[in-house]
Amino acid sequence: MEPKTTEEIIFRSKLPDIYIPKHLPLHSYCFENISKFSSRPCLINGATGEEYTYADVELTSRRVAAGLNKLGVQQGDTIMILLPNSPEFVFAFLGASYRGAISTMANPFFTPAEVIKQAKASNSKMIITQSSYVEKVKDFASQNGVKIICIDSPPEGCLPFSELTQTEKLSLPEVKINPDDVVSLPYSSGTTGLPKGVMLTHKSLVTSVAQQVDGENPNLYMHSDDVMLCVLPLFHIYSLNSILLCGLRVGVAIVLMQKFEIVPFLELIQKYKVTIGLFVPPIVLAIAKSPVIENYDLSSIRTVMSGAAPLGKELEDAVRAKFPNAKLGQGYGMTEAGPVLAMCLAFAKEPYEIKSGACGTVVRNADMKIADPETGASLPRNQPGEICIRGDQIMKGYLNDPEATAATIDSEGWLHTGDIGFIDDDDELFIVDRLKEIIKYKGFQVAPAELEALLLTHPNISDAAVVGMKDELAGEVPVAFVVRSSGSDVTEDAIKQFISKQVVFYKRINRVFFVDAIPKAPSGKILRKELRAKLVAGVQN
Ligand code: AMP
Repeated sequence: MEPKTTEEIIFRSKLPDIYIPKHLPLHSYCFENISKFSSRPCLINGATGEEYTYADVELTSRRVAAGLNKLGVQQGDTIMILLPNSPEFVFAFLGASYRGAISTMANPFFTPAEVIKQAKASNSKMIITQSSYVEKVKDFASQNGVKIICIDSPPEGCLPFSELTQTEKLSLPEVKINPDDVVSLPYSSGTTGLPKGVMLTHKSLVTSVAQQVDGENPNLYMHSDDVMLCVLPLFHIYSLNSILLCGLRVGVAIVLMQKFEIVPFLELIQKYKVTIGLFVPPIVLAIAKSPVIENYDLSSIRTVMSGAAPLGKELEDAVRAKFPNAKLGQGYGMTEAGPVLAMCLAFAKEPYEIKSGACGTVVRNADMKIADPETGASLPRNQPGEICIRGDQIMKGYLNDPEATAATIDSEGWLHTGDIGFIDDDDELFIVDRLKEIIKYKGFQVAPAELEALLLTHPNISDAAVVGMKDELAGEVPVAFVVRSSGSDVTEDAIKQFISKQVVFYKRINRVFFVDAIPKAPSGKILRKELRAKLVAGVQN
């Protein structure tokens, strides 16, 4: 479709728009077609082989809603899910949706300080976790009247998950959900600053899922006879949305895996005849490099999608060769955008060409523009600029942060991604650079501002800046430029250890470079481009 050239140059999907039932609450939308597949497997616990049908998942989720109500969780309250991929994660998320409550998902590997920060900022009333993580939140919870629910044997002071599921009857008061009510609150630093609560509403997620899987032409999307492997953590919106919610809507069987390890991963694909894999570039790299892959029958795979971070063209082509029966394509997402902005038509049975390096076409029922980063003017095809998106799928805003919201979504409803890309003559989006601060370690976000704030609490550091350095395995790793306090001889190792104790593994600082001053604009803004240029030139300590 040609862009309109009246005032702004706006790009639309190469597929036609669809009807989206935006009035439905997320759970009703996901289970709208459940009668067609209620007795089919919905969740399969890859570690134990335990299976839950669609009917089981729907019923248990409604029980959880009643259980949340019984334990005092009100409509509009937030609960924290601090769990690896597990059936209980799914029940908790859907149960909260039925209750009209909000789920904030935290990485179970977070340090206590990181979890507590998110629990406080999101005003979580309950934490659903497992016994191995209880220590992280126990004191905080008891001091703040936050209930802890454990999915395994609960330590003293915590309640078992059965408290939520074994409600005598489904005693849930009528819950009237508005499409603009928040249902999920992932944390993301967006284009700048510290992690913030991203308010995704029922309407945002219904729209985003519909943009990926709904439509008249059944040959274009996933089907109820597909089997999807869910190895990406459900606490990240990419997995939650594009695997779980899309899978539920369509009726696919979802095989849950807690942690990526190549052999169990290949075994699960073979055992369950997985047809769809949604991955991140490090998993794609592991597949491309693994010698053991030849020992497994992976011919069931028909679609491989990679997202959350850039995938190099060579790697993309290398993996394509490993799955000759499959279509391989990229998706492009950002938490704030709901998250999917564009995707390759890698589910399509029809012969749609997938171009190496492309992130596909913009999702349907949405506008995309490419803005000149200097002037803001919208740019034509083949010219790189900042990718902006508009549509009902984007976030409502950042929780309690109107300033950051206004800096990200402008008065015309455009969400500014901080990514640089262009759209080619075939409506395919290519990402070429990133304007924003965020570092992506294996698809996980690292916010430089968070590490800089921690570095500045060190008594021997007078100034610091953090940027991403290219890394073959992780994509990028955080590195710090540090100005020592006068007279200090603090070492690289001491600084690394100081940070390691306070953050999850992927935020650890990989290198420290000592400098005399941090380059800054007159406004005080760190000139990260200069620091990145130093890395490319080969900075010396
Ligand atoms: P998150 O909010 O954690 O999903 O991170 C979103 C950011 O990840 C985007 O704004 C991009 O910078 C990056 N990203 C996601 N998908 C891709 C992709 N396919 N290619 C390049 N970068 C990507």
